[in-house]
Amino acid sequence: MKQYLLNTWEALSTIFIGMKITFGHLFVPAVTIQYPDVRVRLPERVRNRLYVNMDDCIGCLQCARACPVDCIDIETVKSLPTEDLGKTSNGKKKALWVTKFDIDIAKCCYCQLCVFPCPTECIYMTDVYEFSEFGRNDLVYKFATLTNEEAKEKAAQYDVFMEEKERQKAEAAKAKAEAAEKAKKEKENEENKEDNKDK
Ligand code: SF4
Ligand code: SF4
Repeated sequence: MKQYLLNTWEALSTIFIGMKITFGHLFVPAVTIQYPDVRVRLPERVRNRLYVNMDDCIGCLQCARACPVDCIDIETVKSLPTEDLGKTSNGKKKALWVTKFDIDIAKCCYCQLCVFPCPTECIYMTDVYEFSEFGRNDLVYKFATLTNEEAKEKAAQYDVFMEEKERQKAEAAKAKAEAAEKAKKEKENEENKEDNKDK
């Protein structure tokens, strides 16, 4: 009988202690938030999804070279002398078409090393942290503004320009060699004439 009463007392007292703790928490401010209706306040220098402002990109590759995991893939094509690509917002002249600018954010370790060397400050971390995808390929962000067809066209135009330049260079070299040969022959003829007069 005594043991029965002790067990009953122990059960009631532990329930009371538990309820006291539970009741006390009713007046403690909540530490959880109702995500996604409520968002956490992010730190000022948070590192999340990268963004590239292509209007200011000069295709210098410095960001790609700085990346420790090679997740930035850039391809460029030189512009033709007749093309004016304009300037960046900090006054740098643009001379390259950026035909490819992919960032594989699934590989990115958010080190921000790509951001610091950029001479035009056009690549930077944003506060966007919700970018989950079902497919891994959807995590490769494509920033180039040219379509594939336009990129191919730019590359083909530059190849044609270089071929023409090489052809003109070869022609100029050939004409120079021919002129030198002609001048040499004329000089030899003059010298022969002088020799004949002396005899
Ligand atoms: S943050 Fe780091 S890992 Fe990510 S793209 Fe930039 S350099 Fe590469
Ligand atoms: S460092 Fe800046 S300007 Fe150079 S390729 Fe990267 S994003 Fe473009």
